[in-house]
Amino acid sequence: MAGPSADAALAFLEAELSDLRQRGLFRHPRVLDSPQGAVAVIDGRRVINLSSNNYLGLATHPALKEAAERAVREWGVGSGAVRPIVGTLRMHEELERRIAGFKGTEAALVFQSGFTANAGTVAAILGREDVIISDELNHASIIDGCRLSRAEIRIFPHRDVDAMRRLLEEARPKARRILVVTDGVFSMDGDIAPLPDIVRVAREFGAIVMVDDAHASGVLGTHGRGSVDHFGLHGQVEIQVGTLSKAIGVLGGYVAGSRTLIDYLIARARPYLFSTSHPPAVTAACLAAFDVLEREPERIQRLWDNTRYFKEGLRRMGYDTGISETPITPVIVGEEERALRLSDLLFEHGVFAQGIVYPTVPRGKARVRTIVTAEHSHSELDQALEAFEKAGRQLGLVGT
Ligand SMILES: *Cc1c(COP(=O)(O)O)cnc(C)c1O
Repeated sequence: MAGPSADAALAFLEAELSDLRQRGLFRHPRVLDSPQGAVAVIDGRRVINLSSNNYLGLATHPALKEAAERAVREWGVGSGAVRPIVGTLRMHEELERRIAGFKGTEAALVFQSGFTANAGTVAAILGREDVIISDELNHASIIDGCRLSRAEIRIFPHRDVDAMRRLLEEARPKARRILVVTDGVFSMDGDIAPLPDIVRVAREFGAIVMVDDAHASGVLGTHGRGSVDHFGLHGQVEIQVGTLSKAIGVLGGYVAGSRTLIDYLIARARPYLFSTSHPPAVTAACLAAFDVLEREPERIQRLWDNTRYFKEGLRRMGYDTGISETPITPVIVGEEERALRLSDLLFEHGVFAQGIVYPTVPRGKARVRTIVTAEHSHSELDQALEAFEKAGRQLGLVGT
């Protein structure tokens, strides 16, 4: 007796996909045919790359490649187990000490990714009796962690500390514990969280503060120590999350905080407990990255110099670059189709900058997002600006 085929059981997926395709919201990713450089070969075409998170150029740094190669030769390619069984290598602990030193905290714990660091941490420390107060633009991994925790989730309008305070007032009488959580730098607008105000208000209510510095580590603060260092708030933010996948150039995430926090996560954080640890090459390359951060501070200077140069160029042309304060500069176009069209035209003119539309950003706020790195030369940025001018004229976005 033949029942419906397996394909028929999944037919609803095709229906959803064709809906996405019709609305122009389904796209295959562009594909790299070269290393992740300031100039890269993407879909077979050599273009100036304004879409990577490789802020400091560490993804291809010789010292990191060398460290990874040596680790492969000496340790092999896989770690072979989850951390609590027999997957903790000596170098994992060395990296964690290094990160704690970098962040100025007692301890740190590395996760497989920034995503699992966020989701695993929030879900481990909060429960049903608790309230989480979260910025509306926080990263998806924070949102998933909030949901997994089963705590009540209250969202405040982006960077609105007064609204955050009202949520704290409402939560205080009923909540066992309260967590206030925010990105340090917001990935779609490139603006910075008002951390000093958040910390001050959260303190009044005895709430825990958590900041996700995925886009701030390696970018803000002395030697790229992140938003807490940028604002001089050492010792005042209980949970600092960072990624090793962006400015650090490799892969992974971490939590930095008190020894107690880290020990608790070792006992309870599910990605740490139930998913295999990083291979030696990843860990060794991350260790080498922290050496480079301290040895080559000029990389961060170049990043910020390029940031100012490129933003200024876009603004001079009359583009709306929103409220960005960091190397992430959105070029806000408004209408979704135009943003995607701008991205396509830029590509034809030799620049890759991703178009970003609803639901990643609100309707009417569609944009092309640019990220400059320390590795772009001024002449490459000039070429990119020319492409923005040409494409902008073709679409009537900037003056003719
Ligand atoms: C990229 C990002 C993450 C995820 O980090 P991965 O290491 O790529 O998993 C988490 N939070 C924010 C704000 C991010 O931008």
